[in-house]
Amino acid sequence: MSAPLSPFSDLSSLATGLARRDFSAVELAQWTLDRLAADQTNSVLALRPEATLRQANAAQQRLDAMRPEAAQRETPGFSLLGLPIAHKDIFVTRDWPTTAASKILQGYVSPFDATVVQRLAAAGMVCAGKLNCDEFAMGSGNTHSAFGPVKNPWDPLAVPGGSSGGSAAAVAAGHIPAATGTDTGGSIRQPSAMCGLTGIKPTYGRASRWGMIAYASSLDQAGPIARTALDCAVLLAAMCGFDPKDSTSLQLDEENFAAEINQPLKGAPISTPLSGLRVGMPKEFFADGLSAEVRSAVEQALTEFKRLGATLCEVSLPRTALSIPAYYVIAPAEASSNLSRFDGVRYGHRAAAPSDLLDLYCRSRAEGFGAEVKRRILIGTFVLSHGYYDAYYIQAQRVRRLVAQDFDAAFEGCDLIAGPVAPTVAWNIDQATSNPLQEYLADIYTLGVNLAGLPALSMPVGFGSGTGRPRPIGMQLIAPRLNESLLLRAAHQFQSATDWHQKMPEQPGATQ
Ligand code: GLN
Repeated sequence: MSAPLSPFSDLSSLATGLARRDFSAVELAQWTLDRLAADQTNSVLALRPEATLRQANAAQQRLDAMRPEAAQRETPGFSLLGLPIAHKDIFVTRDWPTTAASKILQGYVSPFDATVVQRLAAAGMVCAGKLNCDEFAMGSGNTHSAFGPVKNPWDPLAVPGGSSGGSAAAVAAGHIPAATGTDTGGSIRQPSAMCGLTGIKPTYGRASRWGMIAYASSLDQAGPIARTALDCAVLLAAMCGFDPKDSTSLQLDEENFAAEINQPLKGAPISTPLSGLRVGMPKEFFADGLSAEVRSAVEQALTEFKRLGATLCEVSLPRTALSIPAYYVIAPAEASSNLSRFDGVRYGHRAAAPSDLLDLYCRSRAEGFGAEVKRRILIGTFVLSHGYYDAYYIQAQRVRRLVAQDFDAAFEGCDLIAGPVAPTVAWNIDQATSNPLQEYLADIYTLGVNLAGLPALSMPVGFGSGTGRPRPIGMQLIAPRLNESLLLRAAHQFQSATDWHQKMPEQPGATQ
């Protein structure tokens, strides 16, 4: 091996290393497997070294058959062939265990791959493992996993964010250069922010939900968590595309999000590549409740946007606070329906010696689901029940529409919306369990995007303090429907001028 593998390489530089034959896909896979096996963050739920190495071998054979330049084609993007990825355990994976971090699915092995998993494999990526998350993706700190909380590689006392906490922790710890996540109300953006990474949730309908264990089907989307906007662009392009197996999948031409990522915006000079970009700051995102350290980091990042040529303006999203109750009615309502399939008959855990069918259902679900999932099922069943349906569910749907209209109105005055991802840096793991409402309120800046179906990205812009160690801060960029490429270009220009995305935790992976 001529160039040593570093835990903090991004996908793009690993692709160059593979193309130059600095190391092989098999060496890279083995190196990743060793790091995942030595993980101290509890981010790993399943490893299958033989399957991983077999896939890496096949990828290396394809690389060997190419001329080195051909392996690097796709400029300014890169080929994913031979690069490792790990999946949030919400995606079903053929021959691998899939649990959704729930005891109810312990031992379940899917007979098929989720479309997103299958598309990344078709691009030549090597599946290195399945990663911890909140049970059924319900949570904001990864403390609601049946397999224990995940630690933040920046500070082992802190949560990594959630629900894709294992995905963010594994990347931040330098075990793997990228991971998949899902985002129903912030679960890609918020853990990316809390672990100092870049993550994107696409427009609803871009990524197929086939094989993504359903939480709230009208909100769920898949997306990547990686180190850079460029890596996210290449991954997102590979993950997305029309899928007839998902009835909400959009029929769009495949888009190469990396194609123009390093170009200045139309007519902008190279020195100010974001000239002409109007960035809206929602006044409700900078109001009471935002911590001083997050505010200051986001404002400094916006100053950098200005230096790059963007103009800043104030916009308003007046229904921001209402997105919390609307989401926490709609998401549990859909969850209560989606999770009814886990009945002890067809999948996973089954209670022993049931006295009759009802006893089988009741005890399998009581034993299999964790407390937060039960709380959501109860809330969801309540808001859909006769007599409360109009007052809660229908009302929440009306608010949802108004939230979407607020975004439409805001985009009349700007091209992108920018603000914080979360009000604070990551909280302590031991603070997490006391009050569920506290956790719900911390989702205030991310939920509206899902209610409106918009694309949004999170990227690192600084650090706050915790108990002595730095805790990362993220900034959110939100675009109109289907404008992922503008999000990624703006983020890439920011990352070309700054180095927040290159910071790494002090002791990579060594989080006791
Ligand atoms: N924190 C939100 C919830 O618990 C969002 C989770 C998600 O996006 N999967 O529902």
